[in-house]
Amino acid sequence: MWTDTLIIGAGPTGLSAAYHYRGDYVVVERESRAGGLCRSIYDRGFVFDHAGHIFFTSDPYINDVLTPMLLGENIHWQYREAWVYSKEAYTRYPFQAGTYGLPPGVVKECILGAMEAQRSYRADRRPQNFAEFMEAQWGAGICKHFMAPYNRKIWTVPLQEMSWEWLSGRVPQPNLEEIIDGALQPQPKPMGPNARFAYPLRGGFEALMRGWLRFVDSGRVWLNTRVTAVDPAAHLAVLSDGRTVHYERLISTAPLPEFLQLIAKVPAEVQEAGRQLRTVSVRCVNLGLARADVSERHWIYYPEERPLFHRVFVQSNASPHVAPAGCSSLTAEISYSPTKPLPFEGEALIERAIDDARAVGLLRASDSVLVANEADIPYGYVLPDLRKDAAVARIQEWLRPWGIISAGRFGEWKYLNTDQCFLAGRKAAEQTPAPVTARTFVPPRPAIRLGMGS
Ligand SMILES: Cc1cc2nc3c(=O)[nH]c(=O)nc-3n(C[C@H](O)[C@H](O)[C@H](O)COP(=O)(O)OP(=O)(O)OC[C@H]3O[C@@H](n4cnc5c(N)ncnc54)[C@H](O)[C@@H]3O)c2cc1C
Repeated sequence: MWTDTLIIGAGPTGLSAAYHYRGDYVVVERESRAGGLCRSIYDRGFVFDHAGHIFFTSDPYINDVLTPMLLGENIHWQYREAWVYSKEAYTRYPFQAGTYGLPPGVVKECILGAMEAQRSYRADRRPQNFAEFMEAQWGAGICKHFMAPYNRKIWTVPLQEMSWEWLSGRVPQPNLEEIIDGALQPQPKPMGPNARFAYPLRGGFEALMRGWLRFVDSGRVWLNTRVTAVDPAAHLAVLSDGRTVHYERLISTAPLPEFLQLIAKVPAEVQEAGRQLRTVSVRCVNLGLARADVSERHWIYYPEERPLFHRVFVQSNASPHVAPAGCSSLTAEISYSPTKPLPFEGEALIERAIDDARAVGLLRASDSVLVANEADIPYGYVLPDLRKDAAVARIQEWLRPWGIISAGRFGEWKYLNTDQCFLAGRKAAEQTPAPVTARTFVPPRPAIRLGMGS
């Protein structure tokens, strides 16, 4: 068959590209449901996500147009309750502005380190890597007690191998006064870009993705179909069911290294650039518990070596409709990679996550676990290592003349959240001019209530 634009992947980027594209398109998705990493997991009345997902944005188009269009009234707004558990104490996130409650010696080290960092700060001295950035930004104490161990745990590689520019707008950066304030008294209100966040009232995070499906032509979204080969010169894609698609332009949201493997003749230096892209995988252990209100928090960071998980997302606090009445649910997130393999698999990993949740006081010995499942995310985080940007630029430069746009979190190999993927999809669509005979663009209909059961 022939299509004007072939879109690989029906995640947030692919769906947004389809919606914003004004010509003829086909979306090919290998999974049985659209949504990519934003799909939810439905298990005996509990709804989990592929790791804790919340929705927030600073973009007016997403806030004012897309969010109401996709979710309508199916939305639940909350102020964030994010905490850190270390030295057997809970402190508010961000750690650097919330050391109140830690042992006095630790608080003192954090403050003295932050003061020293401020004193020796030089605007003309650019940090060379993430480790240097942290030390210059927050000082030795905060690095020792949170930043270094937590980031080493989640990123799985030495922090000297990582860049730091990706942090901008993502991690709150309190000033010295806020650091001292947060040491002397409990932090009064959440700070940072996701201090107030949204989550679908019903249906899990996937409800946001189902929103798109009301605005894109379902006949053009082919599920359970994988793109197995691409011939960029012939503008031809081969699908897992044996069909071939001739396209004019291609938008791929597949992970860049995987996408390169679909193409037969990739120059050696582009292949080498693909091999330089590293990802951090995440394994989620999802637990459904026969106890209400297991925690009043939304999520908790764990910088210490034990527990195994680096973060627990209290899924049942994301919305009142993601766990059965009288129950709670948690997702324990464990990052892994070739440099930090998972120590256990399957039942053993679940048992260990339960033991660790008990050890940190989240679960009681008497708690009964009604549901336990795992979700694996092989491509979880783009590892912002120092060579990444040059490698991505080289690959994109090679793809462009073939009419191929690689977009989205793993297509651009950038730390993008869902809202940024919506924008990435729109940008990819806009960069893909429709032919003169394009169908007329239909503006969004007013959103209707989803009313999905959990
Ligand atoms: C641990 C974790 C926590 C996160 N938390 C948040 C959060 O709180 N808030 C937030 O906004 N975002 C969060 N995100 C990010 C969010 O999940 C991603 O930004 C978003 O899903 C990326 O969208 P995408 O469409 O670019 O890629 P994906 O969601 O990965 O979609 C790509 C799609 O392409 C398909 N595909 C790939 N190859 C092929 C092929 N050959 N043929 C056919 N189909 C193919 C895949 O099956 C997939 O459906 C989180 C991500 C992770 C890993």
